This record gives sequence, structure tokens and C-alpha cells, in this order.
Amino acid sequence: MRDCILCGQIFSSRPSFSQIFLIKSRLELVCPSCWGQFERIGDPHCPTCYKKGEREVCRDCKIWQDKGQAVQHQSIFSYNPAMKDYFSRYKFQGDYLLRQVFAPIFKEGLRPFSDYQLVPIPLSQESWKVRGFNQVTAFLEAAQIDYHNLLGKKEGPAQSSKTREERLASQQNFFLLEKAPLSSKILLVDDIYTTGATLQGAKQLLYENGVKEIMTFSLAR
Ligand SMILES: [Zn+2]
Ligand SMILES: [Zn+2]
Repeated sequence: MRDCILCGQIFSSRPSFSQIFLIKSRLELVCPSCWGQFERIGDPHCPTCYKKGEREVCRDCKIWQDKGQAVQHQSIFSYNPAMKDYFSRYKFQGDYLLRQVFAPIFKEGLRPFSDYQLVPIPLSQESWKVRGFNQVTAFLEAAQIDYHNLLGKKEGPAQSSKTREERLASQQNFFLLEKAPLSSKILLVDDIYTTGATLQGAKQLLYENGVKEIMTFSLAR
């Protein structure tokens, strides 16, 4: 018996037969009722950004395509109300322990990208000061996944405080921390994909610096 890290209810962590193949640490941390509120993105979804419910390339992805910046993104969970609550506690209230909830999901979701160099989306100095940790690298570290801090973030208002139009317009928010020859295949990793502006901005910078193949990944979409 243990307390659910999300709701505090005591639950049995002894797996039933059907749960045996599920991920161990989710069984240890989150009760079945809380876990059941997270929604994996199933079919149909946009083939290029994983937006749920779309059978063909979605409107957002078409806008990117028209700009010559095709989207190649994968995501695992829908950014539904349970996921919003989760991120408000993890990111905005800074509950660092909550990184453990999705660490195994990162391990599972990033497995197909073993030949890519993983590059996390960085925080601005301001967000770093407020939060004290980068929520993306915290997931990766908890999952014991190697990554490369290649990007820095310019100062400015946080994406979450901007309108949709402002986000789509502000592309160059990043700079390279090192000029060394970059890996030819890079997977950019973020927590949440909303309009795609953050990841697409970082991707452009890497393309401009000679990276040949870039895909993007987020826990939620
Ligand atoms: Zn719970
Ligand atoms: Zn799309």
C-alpha cells in the first residue's frame, strides 16, 4: 500500500495480471484512478504533429509547411485537463518530485530514437530562477537518458504569456552554446507542444548550422 503522488490516496501497488506489463514506477507512484485520467494520443492524429482527432496534416502543420518548415513531431499524451493540472503542479508550482511520474514514459517514447542525439529545449534565465530546474532535463535525468545541452534561450516573455500569433511570429529565441561540429541527427525534446513555435524555432537554428536530420518530441500535445 502507498500514497498516490498526485492525489494522496492510499492504493495497492500490487499489480493485477493485466497491469503486470505496465511500467513499474507508475505502479509505484500513481494510483490507477489518477493514471486513468491521462490520455494517450491514439488514432486518428495528425501524421506530422500528433494533434489528436486529425486524419490528415492539420492546419498548424500546413502553415509551417507553407513557410518551408515541415513538421516532424511525435508526442505521447494529449494535453487534456489532467495533464494541465499535472504541469501546473510540476512546472509552475515547481514540484520537482513529479518528474518521476513520466520518466518511464520518456524512456519508452525515446527508445526508437537511439541513433539521434537528444537536445532538450532550454529555459530562459528568468524561468530558471523562478523554477530552479528545467522540467525537460529533469524528466531525462530521472529516466537516465543521455542528452546534450546544445541550446541557450534568449531572454524575453515566456511563451505561455504570449498570444498564439506572438508565438508563431517569434521564431529565433535560441542560440547555440557551442560551435563544435553538430551531430547529423538530432531529436529536440520538449515537454508540451502547443503551436510548434518553440520547437520549430530551435529546429531552424540547427538546420542553419548544418544539422541534416531533425525530429521533435514532446510528452504532451
Ligand atoms: Zn491518485
Ligand atoms: Zn499537425
